[in-house]
Amino acid sequence: IKVEDKLYQNRYIVDENRPHIQIKDADVCATQCKTQPCTFCCPANCYSAEEDGKVNLVTDGCLECGTCRVICQDNGNISWNYPRGGYGISYKFG
Ligand code: SF4
Repeated sequence: IKVEDKLYQNRYIVDENRPHIQIKDADVCATQCKTQPCTFCCPANCYSAEEDGKVNLVTDGCLECGTCRVICQDNGNISWNYPRGGYGISYKFG
């Protein structure tokens, strides 16, 4: 089974209008982060590079793995919290 097929087994309850992860300052991504590792390290592809140099974040498919929180430590530009109780991901395979 491919990774994409496994990810498809997961279920998410999205907390509308209350994303549990936020980019603090979009200009920091555009001007102070040369490699933008979040755009290729997130296993759920929640981050994507924009043409204006900024980074777009959509947390709906987030696996709550914490990778982005760790790789952005130098810039400290990510506000990261677990979703509220009852929201977020449910893993089918544990
Ligand atoms: Fe992606 Fe993991 Fe960060 Fe969620 S916690 S946005 S899955 S890197």
